[in-house]
Amino acid sequence: MRKQQWGLYIHIPFCRQKCFYCDFPSFAGRERYEADYTDALCRELAVQGVLCREKWGSPRTIYMGGGTPSLLPTGRLEKILQAIADVFGDAADREFTVECNPGTVDAAKLRALCAGGVNRLSFGVQTFDDTLLKKIGRIHTGAQAREAMALARAAGFQNVSMDLIYGLPGESLAELERDLEAMVALEPEHISIYGLQLEEGTAFAKMQEMGRLALPDEDTVERMYDTMTSFLPAH
Ligand code: SF4
Repeated sequence: MRKQQWGLYIHIPFCRQKCFYCDFPSFAGRERYEADYTDALCRELAVQGVLCREKWGSPRTIYMGGGTPSLLPTGRLEKILQAIADVFGDAADREFTVECNPGTVDAAKLRALCAGGVNRLSFGVQTFDDTLLKKIGRIHTGAQAREAMALARAAGFQNVSMDLIYGLPGESLAELERDLEAMVALEPEHISIYGLQLEEGTAFAKMQEMGRLALPDEDTVERMYDTMTSFLPAH
């Protein structure tokens, strides 16, 4: 049978705290399910993974997202990586990404990911401004994002992506400019930038209904977009 290119997505639905803008399938306070979820995932890989391999061959890309995959203890992550290796083996040309929250990584965990075949990290930075980070419910600081990048490089990662969000409550154009400068100074291989969206059912949507969410006005958000599109290509 002709093999085709395909990608494997693995979802880790646990977070330490729900960010105020987030409507992803992710849950805080469910640590008690982490061990069972890890075991079930490994069993699923051993069954469904083998079926997929027989049908399509080895995946061209693997992406472990969430939730917060990096919230799992190192031993559980190693168990999942081993289950993936047991089914799909190593592939030098495969891109294998793990999403990480800068507040949940340390040197040992990142070294274990690198040793387990992960060759790309995606850090949810969102902003380097600690006041804004608190306002959007993130669990880390700007300093931790910088530290996470240093740890990633020390662990051997040569492909790192970072996410930013703009149009945050109370954010000014000057704050976004500082974020962009801080981001490019870290020299990630890839940057994703999202405009804040108010999603139904989130804490921000409720605050908006109650008139308690002060977002930048449309003109400011437009100037932010123009600033990004003129600043980033030069870098
Ligand atoms: S860390 Fe990511 S998945 Fe978890 S609540 Fe925040 S935005 Fe959502």
